[in-house]
Amino acid sequence: KKIVEIKNISMTYHTLDGETKAIKDINLNINKGEIVSLVGPSGCGKSTLLSIIAGLIEPTKGEILIKEKKIKGPNKEVGYMFQRDHLFEWRTIIENVLIGLEIQGRVNEKQYKNAENLLDIYGLSEFKESFPRQLSGGMRQRVALIRTLIVEPDLLLLDEPFSALDYQTRLAIADEIGIILKKEGKTALMVTHDISEAISNI
Ligand code: ADP
Ligand code: ADP
Repeated sequence: KKIVEIKNISMTYHTLDGETKAIKDINLNINKGEIVSLVGPSGCGKSTLLSIIAGLIEPTKGEILIKEKKIKGPNKEVGYMFQRDHLFEWRTIIENVLIGLEIQGRVNEKQYKNAENLLDIYGLSEFKESFPRQLSGGMRQRVALIRTLIVEPDLLLLDEPFSALDYQTRLAIADEIGIILKKEGKTALMVTHDISEAISNI
């Protein structure tokens, strides 16, 4: 079942020194439960594509349908996990996990339990009341992922989610996260310039 349809998307940036054709005529369908990795060199337009899917920028041409509805601007169907984890250093781990729901006014007992459960699944229970600086890079990325997952988006966008990690950790986390996303039936689009980051083993 199709979740996402990317139809003929092109994006040209206009700047003071001319124009940059960032992407041209991209077509891609993603089905429910698929995890798609898009690999390409720096500057080939990966972040541009994700920003368009997330509704953060408007394409010059084409349209994005999510569950057959055309997206217009930012929407709760899409969860975006950025390249750097952007954790709030003065909030505890569980407070960081709950921030998306808090913004939507949806924090309650059940969601709190859900947050605890997700932290448990990702091996972070004992860090619930810790602060981000007490965690390793890999653990921080997992928190960022949980924070995106807990709002239950139809589509998860991952922008080079492991690039800040050292090589060994990157491989381990990419596998681990791939396995969990697959098991939970999540639909995700990940972009990276590094083939070793592309989620495999799933
Ligand atoms: P990637 O994520 O693959 O590195 P980007 O989508 O960031 O690629 O960039 C694609 C091209 O568009 C690059 O040439 C980049 O310089 C240009 N670009 C990206 N964002 C902007 C912007 N806001 N204004 C002008 N040019 C941009
Ligand atoms: P990761 O693959 O998540 O980066 P690490 O090699 O950094 O893993 O950490 C391995 C284990 O060491 C973690 O599961 C955690 O229990 C523990 N650990 C790592 N960093 C810290 C820390 N700053 N404080 C306490 N325990 C830590």
